[in-house]
Order: sequence, then C-alpha cells, then structure tokens
Amino acid sequence: MRILVTGGAGFIGSHLCERLLNEGNEVIALDNFFTGRRENIAHLLDQRQFELIRHDVTEPILLEVDQIYNLACPASPIHYQYNPVKTVKTSVMGAINMLGLAKRVRARIFQASTSEVYGDPLVHPQTEDYFGNVNSVGLRSCYDEGKRVAETLFMDYHRQNNVDTRIVRIFNTYGPRMRADDGRVVSNFIVQALRGEDLTIYGTGEQTRSFCYVDDLVEGFIRLMNTEADDIHLPVNIGNPGEFTMNELAAEVGKAIGKEVKIKNLPLPPDDPKQRQPNIERARNLLGWSPTVPLAEGLQKTVSYFAERIKA
Ligand code: NAD
Ligand code: UDP
Repeated sequence: MRILVTGGAGFIGSHLCERLLNEGNEVIALDNFFTGRRENIAHLLDQRQFELIRHDVTEPILLEVDQIYNLACPASPIHYQYNPVKTVKTSVMGAINMLGLAKRVRARIFQASTSEVYGDPLVHPQTEDYFGNVNSVGLRSCYDEGKRVAETLFMDYHRQNNVDTRIVRIFNTYGPRMRADDGRVVSNFIVQALRGEDLTIYGTGEQTRSFCYVDDLVEGFIRLMNTEADDIHLPVNIGNPGEFTMNELAAEVGKAIGKEVKIKNLPLPPDDPKQRQPNIERARNLLGWSPTVPLAEGLQKTVSYFAERIKA
C-alpha cells in the first residue's frame, strides 16, 4: 500500500514510518519540522519506497494514497503552548484537510488523538465512554480542545461522507527519538539524570501517569488501522496501564541509569491532570492488543539512546 504519515519526522511518526516500510509499504512522510527532525528519518531517506515532503497540514494537499495516519501536532506542553492558535489550527484544519483528502481518494484515515480528551479525569481508570473533564479556556485547552474537535470531525466525516476512519487515544508514550528539549517528563528526567542535574518534579510529584513504550504503541496503531468491526470508528485507548507517580518515575529513572538521583521541586503547571491510567479492555477485545514492554525495560532502551546522543 501507499501510506501517508503526517508528523512523520516526529518521535512517534518516525517509528511508524520505519515499521510500515519494514512491512513492504510505500511511505510518504509529511512534516513541517516544527518539533520533528530530519535526523529521525535520515536512515530511511535512501529507501526507494520512502518519500519526505515538507508541508504544513493547515494547507490542503493532494496525494494518491491508500491509508493516512494523521499524527501532525506538537505533543509536549511547552511546544503546543508556544503558539496556541497554531496548535488549534493544526488539529482542526489539519483534520479537515486530511479528511478531505481521504474522502477524495477513498483512503482509510487514522487520527492520533490523546488521553488529554479526558482532561483532569474524575473517572479512573479512563474508559472510552467517559466524556472527560476538560477546561475550555486554560493553557492546555488549545491542545485538548483541538484534539476533541478533531475527533468530532472524524466521526462526522464518517457519518456524513462515509469516510473510513479510526481514532486512537494515545496515553503518555516514550522511547528513543524524543527530543532532549522535548519537555515531557520521561525525556526531562533521563537527560537531567545523565547530565548529573537535579530531576525537576512539578508539584508534590504525587500526580500519576501511565507510560507506554513506543514499539507497543505502534503495534496498536497498525492493528487498529487494519481491523474491521461494526464499532471500529469509535475511539480506542492505547496505553500501558502501569501507573506511576512522578516520584516513582524519578526513582525508576535512577535505577535505569544506576545512579542516585537528586530532586528539585518546581511549581505545578495549571490544569495539570492529577491522575491518568487507560482502561484497555476495548483494545484487548477488538485488536487482541496489550502492551509487552515494562517500564524498567523501556527506560533502559531510552536511556541508551539519550546516553549516545549526549556523548555525541
Ligand atoms: P512530536 O512533536 O515528536 O511529533 C509531531 C510531529 O508533527 C513533528 O514532527 C512536527 O514537526 C509535526 N507537525 C506539527 N505541526 C505540524 C503541521 N502543522 N504540519 C505538519 N507537521 C506538523 O510528538 P509525538 O509524541 O511524536 O506525537 C505524535 C502525535 O501523537 C501527535 O498528534 C500527538 O498529539 C499524539 N500523542 C502523543 C502522545 C505521546 O505521549 N507522545 C500522547 C498523546 C497523543
Ligand atoms: N513533569 C514533571 N517534571 C518535568 C516534566 C513534567 O514533574 O520535568 C510532570 C508534569 O507536571 C505532569 C507529568 O510530569 O504531571 C507528565 O507531564 P508530561 O508533560 O510528560 O505529559 P502530560 O502532562 O501531557 O501528560
């Protein structure tokens, strides 16, 4: 198949492109390089089946493709809050442009949504039928509400125009090719620990997240994209239910690096969700998917990646 991956030069997108190429597909990566990097996909550029396009999803584009994975959107709070209006445009106009393309060329299309659609959740763990607890006027709203509208557009293009859609709600994912300056907690802690700096814990560190290794996530993507079922168009949570406080995560990073780590507490950003854990029954039943990489193992691989980069 010929497959378009928007955000293909980003952290998750680059792993997805690699996996799709390994399975014998033609892959077109589209990216505006806001947070993505050429070096994430440099090792793919020689392959005949791979093509890279510099393009912004807020502008329309016409390509002949069989499938579209729509990942284009900055994912880290520091990056998506840098230009919040652009973040909303990327999610909303990006979805409209990619859905329009899918409709025109009859491609199946997949949206990278997020656990942020649950906001600061009052239901725990989060099931897909929970409507969420989201602030519409806060600093995180450009991302959370943009992604919520994108889900709405996916469902409406499906109902109104019969576009063949998939929606995944991704929970916190980590692994090699995150940026050292990405700003998310796993990369921050690892880079700080490797540099011998204090680990920055925001607030008391008692808030929780559930961390999924990127290879497990990509496996879930491929299964969801290629599964048929009556309710397949409705969102599916993909994440690792192993739930950790940020204090526990700091200790795990210390173990992975084999060093005693020191902590510095900084203020908690506004609207920071207190807890987050996916209920993955739907993914288990529909896709036969569950994560296979425990946190300790995934952290080891991520530490090796950052250790190499910092040395270089
Ligand atoms: P990332 O920042 O590494 O990747 C995003 C990519 O999209 C980058 O390559 C960036 O340059 C590109 N991009 C941004 N705006 C664009 C635009 N207007 N036009 C074209 N390209 C654009 O982040 P990631 O972690 O790889 O996230 C990928 C997707 O998964 C995002 O949609 C994100 O919202 C979603 N997601 C990620 C996580 C996670 O934990 N990593 C969790 C939930 C959802
Ligand atoms: N966090 C932290 N130190 C950091 C970066 C993040 O304690 O250096 C916390 C942050 O406040 C949040 C959690 O880690 O409670 C996860 O943050 P991240 O930005 O990785 O993801 P998100 O909040 O979007 O789930």
